[in-house]
Amino acid sequence: MENINWSGLSFGYMKTDYNVRCYYRDGKWGELEISDSESITLHIASTCLHYGQEAFEGLKAFKGRDGKIRIFRMRENALRMQSSSRGILMAEFPVELFEEAVIEAVSRNRRFVPPYESGASLYIRPLLIGTSAQVGVNPSKEYLFIVFVTPVGPYFKTGFKPTPYLILRSYDRAAPQGTGNIKVGGNYAASLVAGEIAHQKGYSAVLYLDSKEKKYIDECGPANFFGIKNNTYITPDSNSVLPSITNRSLMTLAEEMGMKVERRPVPVSELAEFEEAGACGTAAVISPILRIDDPEENKSYVFSKDGTAGPASRRLYDRLRAIQYGDQEDRYGWVTVLQ
Ligand SMILES: *Cc1c(COP(=O)(O)O)cnc(C)c1O
Repeated sequence: MENINWSGLSFGYMKTDYNVRCYYRDGKWGELEISDSESITLHIASTCLHYGQEAFEGLKAFKGRDGKIRIFRMRENALRMQSSSRGILMAEFPVELFEEAVIEAVSRNRRFVPPYESGASLYIRPLLIGTSAQVGVNPSKEYLFIVFVTPVGPYFKTGFKPTPYLILRSYDRAAPQGTGNIKVGGNYAASLVAGEIAHQKGYSAVLYLDSKEKKYIDECGPANFFGIKNNTYITPDSNSVLPSITNRSLMTLAEEMGMKVERRPVPVSELAEFEEAGACGTAAVISPILRIDDPEENKSYVFSKDGTAGPASRRLYDRLRAIQYGDQEDRYGWVTVLQ
C-alpha cells in the first residue's frame, strides 16, 4: 500500500477502500451494501439537493498501544441521527443497523486506521439523504444512508494550544426554535459567511450568541462551548445548541474529577468570570480558547495569559483521549473494541 505520512495528515478527505450504503424504499430499509466507489447516482430532483433533507454524523476510531481498534460512543451518534431525521421528516435509520454499518466501514478499512504513536485517528462520516424526485415541498419517499471513513491527523500539530474566537452579533447560525439542535447540513451552510469572516480576521471560529436576545452564549460554529470557574464546568443550555457527545462525555469526566457541573443559560457577561474556556467536539475533543473578542460591544475576554491551556481543560482532554486510545479504563462503556 502507498505510504501515508500519518502525523502529517490534515482534517481532509482521503480515498479509502470501501464505504457502506443502505437504501430505504417502499417504506423499509434494505440490507447493508459494501461499495468501492466514491460516487453515487442521484436524481436531479432529489429532495436533498433542493430542500436540504440531509443529516450527518461524525465520530472516530482509534488504534491503541495494544493494536486494537476502538470506536467511541457510536450508539450516541446513531440516536442523534434519528433525532435529526425526526427534525426534518426523514426515515429513521435503525440504531443496530447504524452500529453494524460503522463497524463494517471501519473493519474493511483497517489499513487506514492510523498507528497509536501518530496521534491521528480514523474519522467516520455517516450521512442520510432524501433521494426521491420531488418538486413540491414534501418529504422524500426514498432515502440513502452512507458511511465512509477517512484518516485524519492529530488536531493539535503544535501542541494543545489556545486560539482566539470572535463574537459576530450580525450573524445567526440557528433560530431559537429552528434546527440548531439537530445535525443537518443546512446549519453549516448558514454559518459559512460568518465563519469565513472570522477566519479572514485570524480567528479560529465564531462564538454564536442566542439569536433572539444576543444575551446568552449558544455555541461555536461546529463545537459546543464550556467555561471553567471555581472548580465548576459550565456549559450553555439552549434549544439551538447541538447536543455534543464530547461535551456530554466531558461533563461526566468533570464530575469524576470532583468538579461541579452546570448546564444552564450562560450570559455573555459571565465570560469575564471564567478562568478557562474551550470549544469541544469530536474533531479536537477540546480546543482551548485564548481570547474571545466582541468588537461590536468593544469587549475582549482573555482566558490564557501565557498562551497555554488551563489545568482543568488539560486534565479533561488527557482523560478523554486516554479512554479513546485505550490507555485508561473505559469505566462508562463508551468504547467498542473491534474484533
Ligand atoms: C457535531 C457538532 C458538534 C460537536 O458534537 P460532537 O458529538 O461532540 O462531535 C457541536 N456543534 C455542532 C453545531 C455540531 O454540528
